[in-house]
Amino acid sequence: MTDQFTPPPALGCRTSPVLKQRGQREVFCGLTGIIWLHRKIQDAFFLVVGSRTCAHLLQSAAGVMIFAEPRFGTAILEESDLAGLNDTHAELDRTVNELLSRRPDIRQLFLVGSCPSEVIKLDLSRAAERLTQQFAPKVRVLEYSGSGIETTFTQGEDACLAAMVPVLPATNERELLVVGALPDVVEDQMLSLLDGLGVGPVRVLPARSVDTEMGVGENTVYALTQPFLTETHAALERRGAHHLAAPFPFGDEGTTAWLAAIAAEFGVSDEKFKEVTEAPRRRARAAIAQASQPLHGQSAFFFPDSQLEVPLARFLTRECGMTAIEVGMPYIHDAVHGPDLDLLPSGPQISEGQDVDMQLDRCRAARPDLTVCGLGLANPLEAEGLSTKWAIELVFTPVHFYEQAGDLASLFARPLRRKSILGVAAE
Ligand code: SF4
Repeated sequence: MTDQFTPPPALGCRTSPVLKQRGQREVFCGLTGIIWLHRKIQDAFFLVVGSRTCAHLLQSAAGVMIFAEPRFGTAILEESDLAGLNDTHAELDRTVNELLSRRPDIRQLFLVGSCPSEVIKLDLSRAAERLTQQFAPKVRVLEYSGSGIETTFTQGEDACLAAMVPVLPATNERELLVVGALPDVVEDQMLSLLDGLGVGPVRVLPARSVDTEMGVGENTVYALTQPFLTETHAALERRGAHHLAAPFPFGDEGTTAWLAAIAAEFGVSDEKFKEVTEAPRRRARAAIAQASQPLHGQSAFFFPDSQLEVPLARFLTRECGMTAIEVGMPYIHDAVHGPDLDLLPSGPQISEGQDVDMQLDRCRAARPDLTVCGLGLANPLEAEGLSTKWAIELVFTPVHFYEQAGDLASLFARPLRRKSILGVAAE
């Protein structure tokens, strides 16, 4: 499987010293996940129990929905709610009753907590239980937190999927569960590769509809497609499912290693594996070689934001010829991120959490060729002459598996190409 790859480094980053910092952070909150989750789970509605700020975030970030009947909304907590003057549970019940009587197409309702609902300690799990009893079996009501108090934006999806795991039916079937919301076209490519390998039955969490057959039990093996799903990983382990640890499916190497871990578990022969992966691997390598030219010999600095940083640093250093100066992650989980850290050659500073001013100082001192960071930091750094890539774009763009590997390299190459064009124009 490792033929045509750079051999694993003698010393990877799994045992590198980690700089842990807790200070002011610059990240979006978990409500952001609703923007891609509502497209994926097609019979769900996301009701944010929050303030006008939360409503504005959703409306401005997901403004495209004005052309369709939306599948998310905000139950606004007014000042009198926050002051404890109203019975917020009664008001929430009334809002949900109105919504579900108006929208019979809703089969799953997610009550999404926010900073304000957490501050007033509104017990959404009690509300979800009460409303489930009222609306079952037609509507399933679950709750999770999208609050930004202690989390980063991709943790919203993690919390949502983790909330779904305890209500999955039990099964003794030996099945592969693939976990993570991928764009439909990418999910279909992945299913076609697994089908070609003869792996099955395969279930995907989240499913597109509540009626999709899916269970979990001790014979379930699961593979994560997103590195931010650590709570979901823990919830699946609690149900007895078995995790297939592997690098994440970014680039040729990550995709091949991810598929190889599944193939080994399901007894796929080497010949079969080669037969199924050879052609898409060739396409991926050719696309990466073409798209990554501006990246060769360039350096990258990752601020902790999307939680994709370690697998992306692995892809950029091993397949695109870059070097990494610092790789920051909001948090590091050995079982989930270890396989990618093993492949990332030691050298970069690995950091966890953030004290944004100190990290900005390190970035300015290093003057990286490319800085991967959140929206709030990108503009000031650009003004200082640094090229940046918005981390959030990597979550909104199809970047997983072989057919997207060239696009993934292009996303990073674009700011460098733009800078060189502007530089030539200015001469
Ligand atoms: Fe702001 Fe918190 Fe609402 Fe997110 S959940 S929009 S961080 S108030």
